[in-house]
Amino acid sequence: MEELQTSLEVRGLSVSNAPDKGRSLITTKELYPGEVIISQEPYVCVPNNTLTEPRCDGCFSKRNLKKCSACQIVWYCGSTCQKLEWKLHRLECLALAKLDKERRMSVTPTIRMMVKLYLKRKLQNEKVISTTAMDNYELVKELVSHMSDIDEKQLVLYAQMANLVNLILQSPDIDIKEIAENFSKFSCNAHSICDSELRPQGTGLYPVVSIINHSCLPNAVLVFEGRLAVVRAVQRIPKDAEVLISYVDTAESTMNRQKTLKEQYFFTCTCPRCIKVGQYDDIKESAILEGYRCRDKACSGFLLRESDDKGFVCQQCGLIRNKEDIRRIVSDIKALSDKALKSTSSSNPQEALILYKNIEKLQKELCHRFSVSLMRTWEKLLEILMQLEEWKEALKFCRLTIPVYERVYPGFHPLLGLQYYSCGKLEWLLGETEESIKSLTKAVEILQITHGTNTPFMKELLMKLEEAHAEASYKHSSMEE
Ligand SMILES: [Zn+2]
Ligand SMILES: [Zn+2]
Ligand SMILES: [Zn+2]
Ligand SMILES: [Zn+2]
Repeated sequence: MEELQTSLEVRGLSVSNAPDKGRSLITTKELYPGEVIISQEPYVCVPNNTLTEPRCDGCFSKRNLKKCSACQIVWYCGSTCQKLEWKLHRLECLALAKLDKERRMSVTPTIRMMVKLYLKRKLQNEKVISTTAMDNYELVKELVSHMSDIDEKQLVLYAQMANLVNLILQSPDIDIKEIAENFSKFSCNAHSICDSELRPQGTGLYPVVSIINHSCLPNAVLVFEGRLAVVRAVQRIPKDAEVLISYVDTAESTMNRQKTLKEQYFFTCTCPRCIKVGQYDDIKESAILEGYRCRDKACSGFLLRESDDKGFVCQQCGLIRNKEDIRRIVSDIKALSDKALKSTSSSNPQEALILYKNIEKLQKELCHRFSVSLMRTWEKLLEILMQLEEWKEALKFCRLTIPVYERVYPGFHPLLGLQYYSCGKLEWLLGETEESIKSLTKAVEILQITHGTNTPFMKELLMKLEEAHAEASYKHSSMEE
């Protein structure tokens, strides 16, 4: 721990340990938006592989993959990635190759991550792999496991998984109980590794990043550059303040956020947004995010349940929406959503498109215009239309999401930046150069803070903006002639 404190001190950070709230990461100097607070390579990580969609074990790429011929489980994109992983995989490969075919099929990414965890510990003990202040098993030991909060069913599952790990490792000095506890640690500490566009690629354990606590109003954001976890400030953070990221989607209502945090991370959030629960502001906010719209289409009021429970009253104009009327639309949407889910999973985008458009029609009648449900439907429609290469219509839905994103993801939020980027790319594709410049400029403003400026992803964005500027001035000059 002392070693860690010393290495954090250089970065202007320290770990504080309060008995009531556990560990937290504290600043020892002032930080500015866009500044990297901390970055860390994973202690262990695995790609989210499925049988039909493998990824490279080194870089998570899906291209040019070759299966490891010995174990038949792990894939690589080339010799660079294979070499990078070799020290660890050499032992893992030997262990996996001994399994019969049926058992081999049950080796999920989570099981593999646990196997790798123990192999890395062993190799670090034997000094085959070096240890550093931020890369050692002691840090894994410090992670919370919440074993006492887990229900019986989950414990049984962890025990079964631990048995499989034990069978793979066949090492006499490993304690099954400890493996089960480590699975519990994975569940509340491991991070989903996403690409620059926030699409999940794999899972990794970053024991120092895990020290950072949650807030629904965070002052920092976690993004990944390959498998490197990078935490950047999204606001000015004064000296002696706690660094906070969000573990959940901050667009959700207080009740939903708290539910997820309780179920997955076993704590009750007391951030400035959460302590307002039950107060007028929070009731209003939830009624906008999850509630209904006014019967008068021109009114933007939010609705609250009437005291005699006949319906919902608009808080702006006083009009009442009948309970039965609402119930009918809700159940129609539910029926359509079930169908839509089936058609997306059986990959029938044409059918899904029609269904989601019908859902949208009903939701526009039912929901407040800033509702999260309607926003999710627009996101879905955007995704399907992109898949169908219907750029013009895709742009329409992308634009619809922007005002809602501006509201639920204020400030420097990567999702807002990425949505502007999508808009800008579509506008560019459709020849709307001036609009494209506006959207890409917005995207740069936000993403240079959340993603930095040096990654290939950001360089591409900056180049696109430059191209759009060049095109605009060319159009301009040819018009003048
Ligand atoms: Zn690779
Ligand atoms: Zn292998
Ligand atoms: Zn909160
Ligand atoms: Zn109204």
